[in-house]
Amino acid sequence: VQGYSGATVAVLGLGRSGLSAARGLREGGANVVVWDDNEQARDAATAEGFTTRELAKQGAFDGVATLIVSPGIPHLYPEPNKVVRAAWDAGVPVDNDISLFFRSFATPEWDNFERMPKIIAVTGSNGKSTTSALIHHILEHAQRPTQLGGNIGRGVLDLDPAIDGEVVVLELSSYQTDLARSLTPDVGIFTNLSPDHLDRHDGLGGYFAAKRRLFSEGGPDRCIIGVDEDEGQYLANQMAGNAVDDRVIRVSSGRKLTGDGWTVFAKKGFLAEWRKGKQMASIDLRTVPGLPGAHNHQNACAAYAACRSVGLAPRVIEAAFHSFGGLPHRSQRVGEANGVTFVNDSKATNVDSAAKALQAFQNIRWICGGLEKEGGLSALLPHVGGVTKAYVIGREAANFAMQLGDLPHEVCTDMATAVARAAADAVKGDTVLLAPAAASFDQYDSFEKRGDDFIAQVAAVTGG
Ligand code: ADP
Repeated sequence: VQGYSGATVAVLGLGRSGLSAARGLREGGANVVVWDDNEQARDAATAEGFTTRELAKQGAFDGVATLIVSPGIPHLYPEPNKVVRAAWDAGVPVDNDISLFFRSFATPEWDNFERMPKIIAVTGSNGKSTTSALIHHILEHAQRPTQLGGNIGRGVLDLDPAIDGEVVVLELSSYQTDLARSLTPDVGIFTNLSPDHLDRHDGLGGYFAAKRRLFSEGGPDRCIIGVDEDEGQYLANQMAGNAVDDRVIRVSSGRKLTGDGWTVFAKKGFLAEWRKGKQMASIDLRTVPGLPGAHNHQNACAAYAACRSVGLAPRVIEAAFHSFGGLPHRSQRVGEANGVTFVNDSKATNVDSAAKALQAFQNIRWICGGLEKEGGLSALLPHVGGVTKAYVIGREAANFAMQLGDLPHEVCTDMATAVARAAADAVKGDTVLLAPAAASFDQYDSFEKRGDDFIAQVAAVTGG
């Protein structure tokens, strides 16, 4: 990490990214002091030779140049973290590892502009991981040097130093963009907006503001913006200098976007690229196995636009789509028996992503339930048309089931029962879909564990 040589930098939160920030700063010559409320985490840092300092104490910020806060720490809502408050009181800037990355990365001395490494940053409510992984996959397929990091894969400060012509793809959560004082990607992507994670961002306005931060400071050279919600439309309008320049690529799943600008949209299973009123390319997405459903078509459009922005040809991108295996726990086919397909979308932890999953399939045996998100299920009910029956899991299964109204359902509580019952009821052509519309923490450590359990139970009933 460059720019802090000889300065004292405080690091709050000593998880994976906090520790790599501390290491990176030390390598760059900073004098690092660290803190975590958890004693074990402090011990681990001390063992690496870091000095701990109780940052909430009076005077702790004397002589400190900046405070780096880990993404896992709710720094602002529901109320400011006490260390963050102490830094404010002392007039010390509060920042994060993403910022450190951008500051260090943006200053290499590449003499050839064309060969300069580029950063693509992906934000939005849903589809970030899929879009980031897809871009990375396409670049690999095209044999361009590339790395994937941020909220997916490696932490930003654990990435390798960039090489000539490399494209670094970063998935950034709203917590990460919210804190970062420097955010200067070459290509910025905003996938979409749904009202999730509102607890840490003071309602929808604050949440959108956090996502939007990527597009501040003049913004990236290229902005790829999903315009299927009003907020995206607004953002695209703000970023576009005038209607005919190339700065903004507008993306939609479901709407035909033509006109003078540059657009990529999916309609009836086809991706189309339009520029200055002319169609540039068309790709049939219906036969792409790794990207089922309109929501994945949105991801495909954003990834396509990003790859076009770094100079790839439409045909190269199309070929790469076909070899994309998808990510685990997102629209993941995990088994098939007697004409019944089993799909794991354990990552559908909110109502919006579950609605998207439900729209991507037909004749659905729907396994749902878990720790409910704020707002309840009512927004989901318009999308259950393809569901034959719901099999409800989770500690609050009975309560969850009650909200499903007229939809045929069965309270199963645990995964094994739900999979067994759904498999027993299913007939040829059905899809047994895990799309919980809820967090997993009542029964599992993570959505990954929940998905793994689903996979194991599917193997048990299909003998696979
Ligand atoms: P993120 O990284 O933003 O959480 P993922 O790619 O991991 O996004 O997908 C999260 C969940 O949202 C999954 O259930 C997935 O099926 C669903 N999803 C993926 N892409 C989209 C999209 N473009 N719009 C809405 N839901 C999506």
